[in-house]
Amino acid sequence: MRKRVSQQGNRAQFLLDIQLIFNGLKMNPKALHKISYGLYVICSKNGNKINGQIANAIFQVTAEPQTIAISINKNNLTHEFIEKSKVFTVSVLSENTPMQFIGTFGFKSGRDTDKFKGVKYKLGKTKTPIVLDNTLAYIEAKLIDKIDVGTHTIFVGRVEDGEILTEDSPMTYEYYHKVKGGYSPKNAPTYSGGVDKEVKKDKEEEKMSKYVCKICGYVYDPENGDPDAGVEPGTKFEDLPEDWVCPVCGAGKDQFEEEQ
Ligand code: FE
Repeated sequence: MRKRVSQQGNRAQFLLDIQLIFNGLKMNPKALHKISYGLYVICSKNGNKINGQIANAIFQVTAEPQTIAISINKNNLTHEFIEKSKVFTVSVLSENTPMQFIGTFGFKSGRDTDKFKGVKYKLGKTKTPIVLDNTLAYIEAKLIDKIDVGTHTIFVGRVEDGEILTEDSPMTYEYYHKVKGGYSPKNAPTYSGGVDKEVKKDKEEEKMSKYVCKICGYVYDPENGDPDAGVEPGTKFEDLPEDWVCPVCGAGKDQFEEEQ
């Protein structure tokens, strides 16, 4: 009798799984793009070593006590550091953050780059680095819990400290996509493979071609130019100086291809 009940339970679970897979296939993945995010630098440490990375999925979980949650890819060095030191900091980035800065913290690995070279930062109460450049506010937290969600871990931290540095507007993920031409790197929870590109194509009506960086996926949009590098809006890709480089990953013009 017990075996029969268990078999029925397995069958019900199997049918539920099939239904979920089917729903996943027929859903519109663009619905997920309607969720709002920001853009942050998350830092942590491991002994004397420090590292930081860009993240977009952060939220306050509770007010009493004050806790926040962040979603970090398991392949990232920062993930390893948070696991070990059980501390992390969040720097809230301003809308004026240059793409090159986002490129350094978002598209390069601390395993082979010193991301803090030339970057202003300080050590917080827990001796964890807090990035100050392009930062309008920061929060420092001690790890109190974590949830394994497959590719990522959600780390929950109790807030230890926080400060506002400027009254700039925080960079939203929508602003990063639409105004700055940015993409989700592969390790971001919001990475969507080709879907980002379809969205770009949907609104593409310009006569001037856009060019995509084959290394990091950054799109050069002539309509926006590259103001961080002094390139005026309306500058064709062909007219960019030969020494112009991808503002995100630093690749040369030859690493770009016309967007189809
Ligand atoms: Fe690039």
